[in-house]
Formats: sequence, structure tokens, C-alpha cells
Amino acid sequence: MSNFRDLAIDEWLLENMKKIGFETPTEVQEKSIPKILEGHDIVVRAKTGTGKTGAYMIPTLQMIKGKGNGIRMLIVLPTRELSLQVYHFGRQLTRGTSIRVGIVYGGVSINPQIDRLREGVEVLVGTPGRLLDLMERGELDLSKVEFLVLDEADIMLDMGFIDDIETIISKTNRAIRKMLLFSATMPNEIVKIADKHMKNKVRLSVGSEEEITAEHIKHLYCVASSSFKFSTLLAYMKKYKPKKTIIFTATQGRTENIYSVLKAVGYKPLLLHGGLTQAKREHQIGEFRAERGDILIATNVAARGIDIKEITDIINFDAPDDPKIYVHRVGRSARMGSEGRAFTIFEYSQIHMVGVIERIAGVRLEKVRLETKEFDNLEFGRMIRERRETEDRLPRFAGRGHGDRSHGGERRGFGGGRRGGYGRDGGHGGYRRDNRDRGSRPRNGY
Ligand code: AMP
Repeated sequence: MSNFRDLAIDEWLLENMKKIGFETPTEVQEKSIPKILEGHDIVVRAKTGTGKTGAYMIPTLQMIKGKGNGIRMLIVLPTRELSLQVYHFGRQLTRGTSIRVGIVYGGVSINPQIDRLREGVEVLVGTPGRLLDLMERGELDLSKVEFLVLDEADIMLDMGFIDDIETIISKTNRAIRKMLLFSATMPNEIVKIADKHMKNKVRLSVGSEEEITAEHIKHLYCVASSSFKFSTLLAYMKKYKPKKTIIFTATQGRTENIYSVLKAVGYKPLLLHGGLTQAKREHQIGEFRAERGDILIATNVAARGIDIKEITDIINFDAPDDPKIYVHRVGRSARMGSEGRAFTIFEYSQIHMVGVIERIAGVRLEKVRLETKEFDNLEFGRMIRERRETEDRLPRFAGRGHGDRSHGGERRGFGGGRRGGYGRDGGHGGYRRDNRDRGSRPRNGY
């Protein structure tokens, strides 16, 4: 195993890296850094948690240092949360240098971002919607970009950002720009982008899909009809007493329904989805990180890639339709090698997915028996209605229908009704409606 010095990393960077505990490169860093330093475009299959942010940030900062004013590196990410993480990391690595790091994302006022851009930044992190908005206003000059990083490319594709990405790429200068593309999976559309826009590319792959689910996770499941999923969830929680837990659902509306039910029966859950205001989302993540709440109910997109350590349990309230999504979700509970447990509730129509997941992920799912009787008669519909009508109204769908790009990051996540959402898949009609509205579920369970 090499160290960062062997990878020809400059002293000033090594010092900043040391302060945040980066002493030995991870596999993705070991593979990517030399290729980037040699001037290649790279396409890397690597998931969050492998150290991929460092893999692109470390060598590029070294190469742009001292180059002067203007955006030298643009990092495009699908969500505000991921952008914030990468931004903070960039700030840590550039400490003591003249490299200025900026961030832009939707859901907040654009004016302070414009002011910041006018002051000048060398590294810009942002979500596609807001980047496009800034470009249309003539506030974004990408002509000096030397490194264009597309991170979590498959998620951006799933969220419908492909045209925006193409537009962003087209505004950079092909003669001087290198492209660094990172994605957990490599669908054809991503490969096509790479083929179309990269000149001198190297493909790298880190880990295998199977590896992500690591043996130390225990995989449990249960089959329940849609109307018994709440009781199943409560029975599971009573029996297994999960500690730091993320509960994944298919849609924002359902996330809120589970929140209402857990609250009504005495838990103190947290909530994360793209319909909440930016401030609310950050607050909820902060609470979860600080362990002031130990159950986070989230949609996939909102929770993807958020770096929260020591999660012990993943609960798939809605089983994913795609085994890759299962792998991504549960990969999170094994982060940093701690013991993890994943529990999935399959509906009867989804039973075939047990075998598919076992085959694709290379794991065994163990069926558990749960005693739901004491919860079966609870009035879940009433619990959901009551919270919505009384206290604790969480801001939802801020600005929905404004028809502008101000929500950046996840706006398209519920645009055009394609992904369902509040009022479509739960609302006041109670829980049973969920099932009828399956047609509005997003692709791949996002
Ligand atoms: P990432 O995949 O970039 O989201 O990184 C996952 C986590 O691993 C983050 O908390 C990083 O700070 C951490 N990390 C990445 N690379 C290293 C390294 N070389 N040494 C120590 N920690 C690292």
C-alpha cells in the first residue's frame, strides 16, 4: 500500500489532509490520483464511502494552485446535502492557500450566491438546476474550467438532469478541460456521456457491487400486505430495538406518513426529503448526526451519500424495485466496517425480489417472524391525519409550482408529478391509497 507522499502530493496538501486524518490513500484514491495528475480524463465506478471525494479533490487542487483567478474546477452533484459535504471538504483542503471554494444550490436565495461568484472563486461546487440558472443570468463563466467533475452521475441521470449536464459541459472549453466522472453504477447513458466528451480517458473501478453489502451485515426480511406494513414496522422495532436507524421509503408522502405514525406511538423520528426547505433538511441531518434523534425517515434521493457514521440499522419500509438500490441503501449501514443490520418489508407482489437481491448482491436474506397483533388495530389513518391537521406541520414543497429553477438540486425530483409526492400517495386518504397510486412511484424506487 502506498502513502500520499508516494503519490506525489505536495506538502501543503499533505499538511491539510493530516489535520482531517487523511494519512493513507483508499483504493479509489490510489487508483485515481496518478491518472488525474498525468492529465487523463477518468470514469470511475465507485460508491460513496470509498473516499472518492478525496480521489478527485486532492490532485486537482494541487494542479490548480497558483493558476490565478477564475473558476478552475466545477464539481456538479445531484443534491444540496452532497454539495455541502464536498464544499466543506474543499475548504478544509485549501486552508492557508489562495484557492477560494464556493457553493451554489437551489432552494435558497440566489443573490448572495451571485455576490460570492462576483468576488471570485476557483473551485465551485453546485447542483445542476442552480448552475443552469446562474448561466442563464450570465453569472457563470466556465471558460477557464480545467476540471469538470460529475459526481454521483447515475443519481443525476435518475433525477432527470441529463440535459442540464450536457448544457453545462457545452459551456466549458474542450481544449483545456478534463472531465472526471464518478458514479456508483454505470448505465449506458453515463458511458455515452463519457465517450462523447472525453478525449483521453481511463476507466477505473473500485470494489464490486457485491462487496458493498459486506458479510458483516445481517439481512432480514418479512412479507406483508400493504395495509400491514405499519404494524410490521412497529413489531420489528419492538423486537429488534434498532439504534441509529434510517428508514427508507419510496416517496415523500410516505416518509411523512411513517413520521406521523412513529411520533404518535412515542418515537422521536427525524425526517428528510426533497420537499422540505433547505433549512429544515439541514436541521434534521444535524440532529441525526448529533444523535438527538436516532431514527431518520428518508427518501433515497435525499439520503443518498450523506456521510453519517455508525448507522446500525437500515429499514426498507418500501422494498426497492431494483437490487442495486438495495445494495446502495444497506451499504450505508456497514460504513467504516461497523456491524450493521438491514430489514426489508416486501409486499406479496415483490417476493421475487428476495431471490433477485440475493443473487445480485451475493447475500442471504433471512426471513423473520414478527408478532404484529398488538399493532394491527391501531388507527394509522387517524394518526397521519391528526399530525397534518394540528401541530408540527413541516414545511413541504416550498415554492412548488413557481416554475423557476430556484429549487435547484432536487426540483426535478418531483417535477411534473412523475415522482408522486404529498397529496398523491398518502395525503388525507389514509395509508391504503398508497398502493393504488403505485403508478406514480418514481423509477427505481427513488
Ligand atoms: P467519500 O467516499 O468521499 O464520501 O468518503 C467517505 C469517508 O471516508 C469520508 O468521511 C472521508 O472523510 C473519509 N476518507 C476518505 N478518504 C480517506 C483517507 N484517505 N483517510 C481517512 N479517511 C478518509
